[in-house]
Amino acid sequence: MARVVIDALTKEYDSPGGSILAVDELNLEIEDGEFVVFVGPSGCGKSTTLRCIAGLETVTDGALRFDDEDVTDQKPKERDIAMVFQNYALYPHMTARENMSFGLKMSTDLPTDEIEERVEETAEMMGIEALLADKPKALSGGQQQRVALGRAIVRDPEVFLMDEPLSNLDAKLRAQMRTELQQLQSELDVTTVYVTHDQTEAMTMGDRIVVLNGGQLQQVGTPLECYHRPANRFVAGFLGSPPMNFLEVDVDLEKEVLSNSAFSLPIPESAVDDVGGSKLTLGIRPEHVSLVGSPETHAEPDHLIEAEVTVTEPMGDVTNVYLDVGGESLTLTSNERLGVSGGDRMHVHVPAAKMHLFDAETGEAIKHSDEPIDPARIPGPSGHAEMA
Ligand code: ADP
Ligand code: MG
Repeated sequence: MARVVIDALTKEYDSPGGSILAVDELNLEIEDGEFVVFVGPSGCGKSTTLRCIAGLETVTDGALRFDDEDVTDQKPKERDIAMVFQNYALYPHMTARENMSFGLKMSTDLPTDEIEERVEETAEMMGIEALLADKPKALSGGQQQRVALGRAIVRDPEVFLMDEPLSNLDAKLRAQMRTELQQLQSELDVTTVYVTHDQTEAMTMGDRIVVLNGGQLQQVGTPLECYHRPANRFVAGFLGSPPMNFLEVDVDLEKEVLSNSAFSLPIPESAVDDVGGSKLTLGIRPEHVSLVGSPETHAEPDHLIEAEVTVTEPMGDVTNVYLDVGGESLTLTSNERLGVSGGDRMHVHVPAAKMHLFDAETGEAIKHSDEPIDPARIPGPSGHAEMA
């Protein structure tokens, strides 16, 4: 097992239209045994970074180290990594057993009976013992992906590299494999770099997530750090579904308010000293906005804004309510059953403590929500009753 150090990694591709900077001076240290998820929109440089770690791409600048060994110029087969791809990349003419043992036969001197033993152990771990004699075309997508994962695990590498391995599976199987992969990774304790464009996978699977955009590192942190303390507007908007609401506001330092044509809200006390510029972006997560029945008696009356319901979307467990605030949209989610429908005019509460503020130009965070990153353990049923 290895610690992976990415040191000012830069990768430029030459293309007919000019060079493309796919990864721009990326710095990151991945701990031994850690499960790190690279997440970001399509084209942000996730696969390129992974392929550089694997040795499938030469780097333009910077260095890669496994523990203290510089692997920057090593060939893929010298690096002791195993890679799993979205498209499985199984050999069609080989059985599952042959697919799983092939790499070991080619790259090690292990005796055949030991290879067989390892393949069988791994197949059992992956629940695919019964499929070992089958060729890929006889297997479902989920089974093929298990064989591809098994083929990686059987090699017992220092580092697992996975590029969107669950993207071809249907939603239900994907959710199941997410949990299984996490369990497997923690049992095997192998340093794992996992690439996905899916923020749900990132939020639920990673010890830490690495958010990329345009080849540049946006933030590294635990999922909840990145969710509750986003470094900038990009991270804030990328993590969470429905996404964080953003409202452009003008700052009036004399009146100490943030306003636009539809509302005026006091500048949160904790941010008064930090709001320099005249324009900010106010961010508020849908789960922190709530409908207000009686505005007259509300505890934070100057944090209410008027809105009109556009559409409600009952999801079963929660309801999403889409609102219009002076021409801008605002979404709230509630786990209560709300008796509202399109056209209703309502007051909604935007609590000062949960507001995020971003510099309107750079997108840098100026103020975060006070939401705890490590919430206290959920109390038992009696505790729930007290909280309600
Ligand atoms: P992601 O995996 O995050 O979707 P990639 O790492 O595949 O993104 O791509 C990052 C950028 O590099 C994109 O602009 C992509 O078009 C470009 N790119 C990737 N591979 C190549 C290549 N072989 N040649 C030229 N450009 C490439
Ligand atoms: Mg990719």
